[in-house]
Amino acid sequence: MILHTPQNTQEVRDLVSDALAGGGKLEITGGATRLAFGAPDRQADRLSLAALSGILEYDPAELVLTARAGTALAELNEATAAQGQALAFEPWGAAGSTIGGVVAAGVSGPRRVSAGAVRDHLLGFEAVSGRGDSFRAGAKVVKNVTGYDLPKLVCGSWGRLAALTEVTLKVLPRPPECQTLLWRGLEDEAGFALLREAMRQPVDAAAASYLPGHAALVRLDGFGPSVAARKAHLTTALERYGLPDVLDAHEAAPLWASLRDGAALAPELPLWRLSLPPRQALAAIAPLLALGGRYVADWAGGLIWLVLEGHEDIVRAQAALAGGHATLARAPAALRARIPALHPQPPAIEALSRRVRRAFDPMGVFEINRFLDEPNAD
Ligand SMILES: Cc1cc2nc3c(=O)[nH]c(=O)nc-3n(C[C@H](O)[C@H](O)[C@H](O)COP(=O)(O)OP(=O)(O)OC[C@H]3O[C@@H](n4cnc5c(N)ncnc54)[C@H](O)[C@@H]3O)c2cc1C
Repeated sequence: MILHTPQNTQEVRDLVSDALAGGGKLEITGGATRLAFGAPDRQADRLSLAALSGILEYDPAELVLTARAGTALAELNEATAAQGQALAFEPWGAAGSTIGGVVAAGVSGPRRVSAGAVRDHLLGFEAVSGRGDSFRAGAKVVKNVTGYDLPKLVCGSWGRLAALTEVTLKVLPRPPECQTLLWRGLEDEAGFALLREAMRQPVDAAAASYLPGHAALVRLDGFGPSVAARKAHLTTALERYGLPDVLDAHEAAPLWASLRDGAALAPELPLWRLSLPPRQALAAIAPLLALGGRYVADWAGGLIWLVLEGHEDIVRAQAALAGGHATLARAPAALRARIPALHPQPPAIEALSRRVRRAFDPMGVFEINRFLDEPNAD
């Protein structure tokens, strides 16, 4: 395996063109914190975008930021915080994660349920396709409605469409006050019902999550008097669940961090990320819990992080039955060699996805069989 570390877009283009000419394969990486995702032992040279780093434009008044794709997420969080702003979709990742990796992995934190996902905040990008051409899509302004919405397409594309070299994101003011209401000792049914009711109340809840047997959490963001009024409303509306404890941002931070990636769950077990309709989520996972599964729920019940040894077919079947999907987020190499990380799509959708990939990458330079679905390009 050769590690390529291009320093600019031209070098990315040259490397992709060389691979194209020589029939080579390239695994795109940013911070390379998620190499252990998908099939192991990928036979490809690595194209690291980490050196394409730095904020190019940041206009706090316009709420728009453009950065090279290899810019560390931590750097963006620091720069926006210094202006009293933030990436509202709460991206997260291990130290070294880059914004290109976050976009390509489609990563959004607990606030997704109110602020939207990364795909709702990516305004535009520059990238190098599998043809070795660089192209731009979207724009550097919030109001932009021309052409195909390619920014939506690259979010969650996992390095299969193009190498992102630059991204433009919407930023939002950081809420001055942030309080978490925490109801303890609720059983699963009551915990999920509380999340649903909290999201229905006119309190503009920022996030709502459930830690089984421990707590249901609802976060309220905004200006102090507004948070106080909404807290009072929610406490009254949900009084049959008991009186909540109230945590400030500092006290609640470790809880939210453990929820957004299932970090609170047994690290030695395979970890699944189930995306489910919140109403069906509990029924969908009930058979998995009976098999020994343990979980935490985010996004008001729409996102379940679940650890379970074995029973992979049942996990996938339960997710599909509820109209959702299950991603194998973490597992030993032998399991990742056997089970595709991404939920298999229906044949028609899979054929469409493949055609879209071929449009960006006709010779399959970026097809490294990470997802066990395309050993050879068409
Ligand atoms: C299902 C799931 C599970 C996750 N599990 C964890 C976890 O256990 N721990 C954790 O810390 N984070 C996890 N994350 C968060 C996420 O993977 C990281 O925040 C982010 O992707 C890491 O950034 P990176 O730069 O290190 O990416 P990398 O590990 O370098 O790459 C991640 C993916 O993005 C692609 N990519 C990277 N850069 C680019 C680019 N410039 N252009 C095109 N494609 C690119 C790669 O090809 C790869 O498919 C998870 C996310 C998801 C969706």
